[in-house]
Amino acid sequence: ATPAATMVGTAIGARNGVLFKGGDILERVKDVESVVFDKTGTLTKGEMTLTDVVAVGPAADGAGVVTGDEALGEAGVLRYAAAAERDSEHPLARAIVAGAEARDIDFPEADDFENVPGHGVRATVEGKTVLVGTRDLLSDDGIDPSPVEDTLQSLESDGKTAMLVAVGGELVGVVADADEIKPSAADAVAALQSRGVSVHMITGDNERTARAVAEAVGIDPDNVRAEVLPEDKADAVESLQADGKRVMMVGDGVNDAPALATAFVGTALGSGTDVAIEAADVTLMRDDPLDVVKAIRISEATLTKIK
Ligand code: ADP
Ligand code: MG
Repeated sequence: ATPAATMVGTAIGARNGVLFKGGDILERVKDVESVVFDKTGTLTKGEMTLTDVVAVGPAADGAGVVTGDEALGEAGVLRYAAAAERDSEHPLARAIVAGAEARDIDFPEADDFENVPGHGVRATVEGKTVLVGTRDLLSDDGIDPSPVEDTLQSLESDGKTAMLVAVGGELVGVVADADEIKPSAADAVAALQSRGVSVHMITGDNERTARAVAEAVGIDPDNVRAEVLPEDKADAVESLQADGKRVMMVGDGVNDAPALATAFVGTALGSGTDVAIEAADVTLMRDDPLDVVKAIRISEATLTKIK
């Protein structure tokens, strides 16, 4: 494209909230063959709400999971979970804390807090070790997550993120957060697919939740990569590009930055973290997945009309 065409395309993009980081990017976008969406905050709104608190133990279901003096009850489970998550910035954590506050549950401060990336948190509360997170987080600590497997699966099939809670080495319950799918997500997926662009999803979240969201927006289950650790997102993009495919990665998080940098085109959302925006080639100021299609159209129009 001529410099003039590039300027026009860049300006049209800007007016539509699609920021291209330079003329070569503008030219490149039309050649994208696959789009990989991050799930949380990209296809979904990223505004988590606490939806479920389940206590396990004799008082709850007679399963005898809690071997201590008594089952904690739902308020107790939430009290420990909120205490442990108080210092975490993760949206899942913020929703747990807000949920406890909304239910007027007084929770203590944790004495000690540690993020376990991709898995959850470990904290010391009232002298006890509290874990909130994935099945693996608990099993790595020698706690068997299987007594709540049915509960987890039913929450995950609804597209919720379920987290196990352990206190003092005992599984005490499950909490779940839900997020809303963006209203235009399914239209964006359909529009890309009808142009012959294959659509994928990648997420740190569990397989079942990921598939529920993928199904809702029309992404083929075979194109879903779940339980991808933050450091492995870039590798996942690389493996899609291995056979020469030109991939656009769309994401919002710090976790997504290496994958955005690795992709043929990295696309960040305007509300995303600065790290993601810096790593990206394109920024979608309106946070609208449909603007991925708009970016491709602008790229095509610029280069075909004014050659
Ligand atoms: P995502 O890609 O969805 O942002 P992450 O890689 O941050 O996912 O986390 C993966 C999984 O680890 C989450 O789905 C959740 O089960 C668990 N997890 C991460 N952080 C926390 C936390 N602060 N509290 C509880 N669970 C967490
Ligand atoms: Mg995200």
